[in-house]
Amino acid sequence: MEEKKGFATRLIHGGAAPCSKTGSLIPPLYQTSTFVFENMEQGARRFAGEEEGFIYTRLGNPTVQQLEEVIAELEGAEAGLAFGSGMAAISSVLLGLVRTGDHILCADGVYGCTYGLLTMLQDRFEVQSNYVDMSDEEAIRQGIQPNTRVIFLETPINPTMKIADLKKISGIAKEAGAIVVVDNTFATPYGQRPIEYGADVVIHSATKYIGGHGDVIAGLAVGRKEEMDSIRMSTLKDMGGVLSPFDAWLLLRGLKTLEVRMDRHRMNAQAVAEYLDAHPKVTRVVYPGLASYPQRELAAEQMSCFGGVISFQVEGGLEGARRVLDGVQLCQLTVSLGEVTTLIQHPATMTHSVIPEADRLRMGVTDDLIRISVGLESVEDIIADLKNALS
Ligand SMILES: *Cc1c(COP(=O)(O)O)cnc(C)c1O
Repeated sequence: MEEKKGFATRLIHGGAAPCSKTGSLIPPLYQTSTFVFENMEQGARRFAGEEEGFIYTRLGNPTVQQLEEVIAELEGAEAGLAFGSGMAAISSVLLGLVRTGDHILCADGVYGCTYGLLTMLQDRFEVQSNYVDMSDEEAIRQGIQPNTRVIFLETPINPTMKIADLKKISGIAKEAGAIVVVDNTFATPYGQRPIEYGADVVIHSATKYIGGHGDVIAGLAVGRKEEMDSIRMSTLKDMGGVLSPFDAWLLLRGLKTLEVRMDRHRMNAQAVAEYLDAHPKVTRVVYPGLASYPQRELAAEQMSCFGGVISFQVEGGLEGARRVLDGVQLCQLTVSLGEVTTLIQHPATMTHSVIPEADRLRMGVTDDLIRISVGLESVEDIIADLKNALS
């Protein structure tokens, strides 16, 4: 068997080979909605699935397919799917896996819109869900029900940065006959590959680190071929949350620099986390690279890069947080993360505001909590901006 190349090499050479017709180094962008058949017979064969080939871009497109193959390879999965947003990926995967009467065991503190989706599934389609701290093995075991079909988690989870033990949870799920779906947006396949630890499906909001430049909304999912084919032919095709070829092309471009970007995100985040940790007005900093991080051992075991997201709490509650967020100038006050630009936001009133207050506080999303996605600017400038805002 051919030896597997290094990660950075696979990022850069893993897309399609140079175009054999023109020699174009970068594969062409197939910005088309439909594909012409040679004759009626061929069209019929394609629709019957008797012949490989493209039909219509919602059912498949060469540029989008390239991206699907690359992400599957990077995550160590059999097959991949691309979607028009991270939420399209999450909703299509979950709707493709569950039916009325099933139960989803979900991580406490999950992305706000995922929480919103699960609430809708419960209220309108009788798919039950409940939430547990995925770093608490006993709570997970107690949360499993006979009808648990999916265990859904993020690790590290946003914005509390708690991590879940992927190997342990995958083992519990196997015993229970449930499927483990991991939202791997924060770690990226460079930082963590959940399939290697027994997870079944991995999802990304490719809007974040995979695209990396803040110019695309996109989602990805990878897993076993059988499950991905079934999702492609049901919820992806018929609900229609597909990715545009141009956005797939931008993601293929962004992916080439994933490793160098992630390494610099991590270095900058480490320096910012250490600065904040020593600041008298900062009461707590959570970043897996800090010595004070409670799950340091597990983080080192299953993650190879901690990424650029830090959560911290400041003195003065909501007002204290307001002074920092209104005081920054270089750091941009906005949601989202994983971009070249440093982004700062207030989870309690922004990304996690849909979660009822009692649940939100239980999940650790307090009013004094700030999330920063450390970008790729010169780190001394990021620190100077925070220093100024904190004073
Ligand atoms: C942003 C995000 C999503 C949603 O992705 P979109 O691309 O905005 O639809 C889901 N999960 C996590 C962890 C995210 O950060």
